[in-house]
Amino acid sequence: SKKGGKNRFSFFAPSMEESIRQRLQLEKMLQQAVMNREFFLHYQPRVDTASGRIIGLEALLRWTPDGHPPISPDQFVPILEETGGIEEIGEWILETVCRTARAWQQMGLPSVRVWVNISGKQFQDKYLFEKIEKILAVTGLSPRYLGLELTESVLMQDVEVHIAKLKQLKQLGVMISLDDFGTGYSSLSYLKRFPIDEIKIDRSFVNGLLTDENDTAIVRTILAMAQSLGLRVVAEGVETPGQRDFLTEQHCDEMQGYLFSKPVPPNRLSTC
Ligand code: C2E
Ligand code: CA
Ligand code: CA
Ligand code: CA
Repeated sequence: SKKGGKNRFSFFAPSMEESIRQRLQLEKMLQQAVMNREFFLHYQPRVDTASGRIIGLEALLRWTPDGHPPISPDQFVPILEETGGIEEIGEWILETVCRTARAWQQMGLPSVRVWVNISGKQFQDKYLFEKIEKILAVTGLSPRYLGLELTESVLMQDVEVHIAKLKQLKQLGVMISLDDFGTGYSSLSYLKRFPIDEIKIDRSFVNGLLTDENDTAIVRTILAMAQSLGLRVVAEGVETPGQRDFLTEQHCDEMQGYLFSKPVPPNRLSTC
């Protein structure tokens, strides 16, 4: 009714109306960004705990729309997922990362594994394996230098299909990491069934190391459990020497965080 229609408006607080408007604007901007390829990548080192050497790099998506400050991928990747843009951009990310890694090798830089975040929609793509195989062939990067970071929530849907896909990727030689570990629903039985190579302890637990008893206990438990299952462990978000020392004592295999380096543009890596 007319009356209801008019009244409905008052259900929205001005801030909600505003946030809907902003969301629509963001969607529109993103659509153009996908078309114009406005995205770029930064790379964050992964450090081998035992040697202190950089043995890997995580590619992280960046977007700085014209006349705007950078927008966080936490904010725009979920929208890309909903609107379908992630499939196109996801392929562009994989290809750019593999091409860049191959170029570094040809420049004579030490070969390190590059890690790509794969979103849910992207992992559900029936042709993901074929696409990755093709990208590796075209860029000439050996599969052993590519790693994929997947979250638990991605893997928990279509478990059987996903296990088969992971096996295929592993057979090719691509490494698999379970990202944001501890924040989802993974049970021990799942961990055993998924053919993964490593787990990545979520930043929120690393953040509370030594200051929060629960976080310290959780990290200790994750490490012990992963070690007994024969999985490698990576800690993300390492910011303090205290956190680094604790993780070193507990034999965490790899570390990543601002203490070592923030994510940086690719040209910063080829010159260091
Ligand atoms: P993530 O995969 O868990 O990435 C780790 C996030 O932690 C990154 O944020 C990284 O910059 C940040 N970080 C690393 N070290 C530290 C530290 O010491 N302290 C703090 N406070 N933060 C640290 P970023 O780049 O903003 O990415 C956020 C999320 O967006 C990622 O979480 C990932 O879920 C998603 N994302 C980023 N790039 C891609 C991509 O290429 N594809 C997909 N599908 N998702 C991506
Ligand atoms: Ca990640
Ligand atoms: Ca993570
Ligand atoms: Ca995360």
